[in-house]
Amino acid sequence: MKNIILFIVFALSLNNLAAQTLGVLATSSIRIEMLFPEGKSKALILSFDDGTTADRRLVKLMNEYGLKGTFHLNSNKLDTKGYLTKGEVKNLFKGHEVSVHSANHPALSALTKIDIIYEVVEDRKELERLTGNQVRGMAYPFGNYNDLVVDAIKGTGIEYARTVKDSYNFTIPEDFLRWDPSIHQFGKAYFTTNDSLNDKNELAIFFKLTDDFLKSNSVALFDVWGHSWENDGVGDRWTKMEDFFKMVSKRNDIHYTTQIDLVDYINAFKNLKISVDKSMISNFSSLDVYVKVENKTYKILAGGQTIIK
Ligand SMILES: [Zn+2]
Repeated sequence: MKNIILFIVFALSLNNLAAQTLGVLATSSIRIEMLFPEGKSKALILSFDDGTTADRRLVKLMNEYGLKGTFHLNSNKLDTKGYLTKGEVKNLFKGHEVSVHSANHPALSALTKIDIIYEVVEDRKELERLTGNQVRGMAYPFGNYNDLVVDAIKGTGIEYARTVKDSYNFTIPEDFLRWDPSIHQFGKAYFTTNDSLNDKNELAIFFKLTDDFLKSNSVALFDVWGHSWENDGVGDRWTKMEDFFKMVSKRNDIHYTTQIDLVDYINAFKNLKISVDKSMISNFSSLDVYVKVENKTYKILAGGQTIIK
């Protein structure tokens, strides 16, 4: 008897686990899978930290290839040597996302709760003033965080926070405040100086993962992060960055997005209201949401209801 009960508990928790997998809503055998906007199966996020002057060249290159970026800035570093000016932020990042990277770039886990909150809110407030837009995202400086940091930023209006823990996959993170990206630009190439074998291996890993993303048949999010200033180092990295942009740009199957726009979209998907038999899906958000149900694509209009046949 005890074994049977244990089995039922186990089966129930398995069922729960499956239902909670992000991007899939399921309470029976019918799965409602999230597709990206326009019914696309792939999405690309490019996010770069620190707001140094090399962002100018990077943004120009991204604009040439029609790519969108998320740029994490330290407002107290702006207007200092090597960094962007406060005056140029608004125009430079037009069409891209400006996001928090803390006001002064400290390791947040070494701070008290009030100082963590200050670093985030101060940065958010100044970036909002500079851009004239709401700033709702963040990347942890040095990728440094712990449970206290995550707890402290809740309630500051930050809706996602990117780490530097590469997942080497294309899944959508479940915990938006511990958002692990897919891979650092060029993997871990150039992490040690004068190690050309490591550079070669890591570049191969990076471009292989890019290729895997392009060839993927399932729903895939490729989230590449780095710093524009890294491209100024040895190894003709600007050319390699452009090679990467050539590979991923101007493709009909990819949704090019900032990170916050994707967060809003995923939230709209998660908030869909679904009838028990899965025949009716309502969307009370202001974004059209695309889903796949048994290999058919459905568009659930913003504020509308769709009947699944
Ligand atoms: Zn940084």
